[in-house]
Formats: sequence, structure tokens, C-alpha cells
Amino acid sequence: MTPPEALAPSTSCVVTGRPHAPGSPVNPPLVLTSTFVHGGEHTYARETSPAFTPFEEAVGVLEGGRALVFASGMAAAAAVLALVPHGGVVVAPRSAYMGVLTLLREAAETGRITLREVDLTDVTAVESALPGAELLWVESPGNPLMEVADLPRLLAAARAVGVRSVVDNTFPTPILARPLEWGADVVLHSATKYLSGHSDVVLGVLVTPEDEGGRGAYDSLFHHRHLHGAVPGPMEVWLALRGLRTLAVRVDRAGANAATLAARLAEHPAIERVRYPGSGAMLAVDVRGGATAAEHVCAATTLWTHSTSLGGVESQLERRRRYPSEPDLVPEGLVRLSVGIEDVEDLWRDLARALDAVLSAPTPDRP
Ligand SMILES: *Cc1c(COP(=O)(O)O)cnc(C)c1O
Repeated sequence: MTPPEALAPSTSCVVTGRPHAPGSPVNPPLVLTSTFVHGGEHTYARETSPAFTPFEEAVGVLEGGRALVFASGMAAAAAVLALVPHGGVVVAPRSAYMGVLTLLREAAETGRITLREVDLTDVTAVESALPGAELLWVESPGNPLMEVADLPRLLAAARAVGVRSVVDNTFPTPILARPLEWGADVVLHSATKYLSGHSDVVLGVLVTPEDEGGRGAYDSLFHHRHLHGAVPGPMEVWLALRGLRTLAVRVDRAGANAATLAARLAEHPAIERVRYPGSGAMLAVDVRGGATAAEHVCAATTLWTHSTSLGGVESQLERRRRYPSEPDLVPEGLVRLSVGIEDVEDLWRDLARALDAVLSAPTPDRP
């Protein structure tokens, strides 16, 4: 067989981690066991399990490294944070996924780490925050402002001063970005989102380079998962692999839908600003009329699901500032859109109807 590295990502999604022996099922079986008969490869399912292996292999091939599956994206983020020694400095974006920001800010409040929050789009600011740091945390495009960072430059700058880096690659997926190739030390995914793709699983994954040299994180992350019990259940991993098979076509289709919608939204009078990074299926819009108008839009769609989370086959939207911990940098009227794979004309009709309705309804915070 051709080595998996030589295959296109859309092929790797489909073929990696599949049994090939004569008489095997064509899908890896769902393995429900907590322990293993003594003397083989596996001992206890909090450490390693054949329930994890095919998914880890597939994500590893797609990102170009070695993957470790975790119970959630946040369990994976906590494992990365555990790499930082007590009191160590973490350079992190001032706006990013709210859960990660809260995790870091709370760690800073208790003195566990020192946090330097930066604007990731300002390379000079990041460069001057790096000296003496242990970890650079990167998310691009950032959730939910959709700001794009210059990953190759930031990762090279971190590497040059011996700072370890982690890239949250949940939004782009390995179909659109492979941060290990740009020098990232760890790639993080909320596999809850695009990797599994069907809003039926909570799961995380970390990927480290195959050849880590002297600053390897894999062993520490593996040890953390084992001792903190941050492992997923077999069913979640099985479903995630099933979802991963269609990752490339989902990203393609949802991305094409998002590009069409971004262009049309920019022309709609109810929209003040469209935040669209130019690829991927995530975008955000600032609705004229602030919080009230934005809430009206979310409540008025019928095809788009008004729910948190993203990356499913179904289109979802929500106003992010409805969460008190969402940073103040995020405008009150910002609605985040996770574009799915439905017909784009149906999506547009539903969204346009909801936007037209706020234009005709007077809202208290409209001047
Ligand atoms: C959802 C999300 C997370 C957290 O993942 P969970 O699976 O919900 O724990 C981390 N980063 C980003 C960018 C996310 O969207």
C-alpha cells in the first residue's frame, strides 16, 4: 500500500485506520472493555485502548504527527496547560474560545501561571511578549472575532526563543491548516466540532510531531491523560471516526456555502460588518441594533439552529455576548455563524428573512 503520508487528505480521511485482513469488518469494531487479558499490547483502558487507536491514527496522519484522544477539547486544553511549570508564563490571545480563556485566566488568578494576553494579529506585540515564556497559545481564526494570525511567523518566533507553542486548530481543521508543518509543538482540536461533524459527540484530541527532538510533549501529555483520567468513552471515539470519514467533503461544501453567505451578508442593510477570514465555514456578523436585534435574528431563523457549538452538518448561530464570560472585545450584536452543508439558497432565504424582520421591527437599543 502507498504510505499514508503520500495520500491526499480527502483520501486519508476515508482509508486510515481501516482493517484490511481477509475476513475483517471494514470498520474498526466498537471495543467495549475496561481491561485486557494480561500479556498483550493493552493493559487498562484508562491508559491505551484499541477503541482509541484507529481515530488517533487517522487524526495523526491528517495533522502529520502523533495523536492522543481526550474526553473533550477542554480536557485536551487542560493537559496542555499542565505542561507549564508552576508560575510559568503563558502568552495567549486576548480573544479566543471562551472556555480556554477562562481556564487560563483562572490559572493566572490563583498564581498557577502568569498570563500575558496579546493581540495575535500584532506580530511585534507577540514577539515582545515571548521572552521568558513557557508556552504560546494560538487560535486562528480566533473565536468568535475571526481574526487571522500569521501562524508561520508566530510559530517561528516562539521557536527562535525556545518557547513551546500550541495551536488550536478546531476552526480550520487539518483540511485547511497543518500547524505542525509550520513548527507548532502541539495541535489541539475540539473534536466535538468539525472532526466528528455531527453534533453528537464531545471529544478532544492533541497532536504532537512524529519527531519531537529534545522538547517533546507527547510523553507528558500521555501521562497526564492516564493519571487525570481524561479519556473518552469508546462510543464517542467510534462515532468521531465515523464522522471523520467525510471531513474533507463537509469542509468543502460548508466552506463554499460560507463564502456565498459572507458575500450576500455584506450587502444586507441589517448587517454592520461581516467577519469572514476567506476560507472555512465559520463567520461572524455584527448586527445593526446591538444585542436586541441580534437576539431577534437568532430567534427568528427556522432552518438555522439557535444553539451553541459549531462544526456540525447543520447550520447553527448564536449571539456570543449572551455569555457573561465572553470578552468585552466581542461586540454585543455579534452573531457567530457555523455554516453547515445544507443547500445554500435555503440557508440564505431563512437568514435573510430573519434579518429583514429586524429591519422592520423597532428595537430599544436602535438609535
Ligand atoms: C469548542 C471549542 C473548544 C472546547 O472543546 P470542547 O470539546 O467543547 O471541550 C476549544 N477550542 C475551540 C476553538 C472550540 O471551538
